[in-house]
Amino acid sequence: MHGEGIMDIAAIASALCKQEFIAADWTEKHLLTWLRDGGKCTYCHVNLLENRGIAYYFYSYDHVLPKHRYPKFEHVPENLVLSCRECNAIKGKFDPNKKSPIFNAESGESPNDAGWRELVRRAAAHVRETRPQREQQFDKGRKAILEALKVLANDQRRTTDDEIRT
Ligand SMILES: [Zn+2]
Repeated sequence: MHGEGIMDIAAIASALCKQEFIAADWTEKHLLTWLRDGGKCTYCHVNLLENRGIAYYFYSYDHVLPKHRYPKFEHVPENLVLSCRECNAIKGKFDPNKKSPIFNAESGESPNDAGWRELVRRAAAHVRETRPQREQQFDKGRKAILEALKVLANDQRRTTDDEIRT
């Protein structure tokens, strides 16, 4: 998954780590992930360095294989990819190895490089397919909240009018 240039990336991450402006909880491992993924969300490719609303630095990671099902891979670099908040929420507990498994987790197997790529591809496809559904849900929620706020505003206006009248 890392391909060529991993040594260069490691050197850059290590140098960055030694600089003061890097937050204390950033480790070389975290920087490696940021550099490997180009600072972009693996799923929607949004630039995570654009602003603080998108990036949540230390926490901008998704476990391709969900950690509750695959604790063995919780800290494996290949299993950690950069993800924005939105994609992370959509991806959730989706298991890209459940339908037609590409490796046998029960027998202690690990995916190879091609396997990891396929798992990421499946996770990305899931995020892409689920997104419209989530957006519809949000639109419904937004509509309901806006309606409720309108009712509240009307109520408050009426109360104020009553207070003026009395
Ligand atoms: Zn995203």
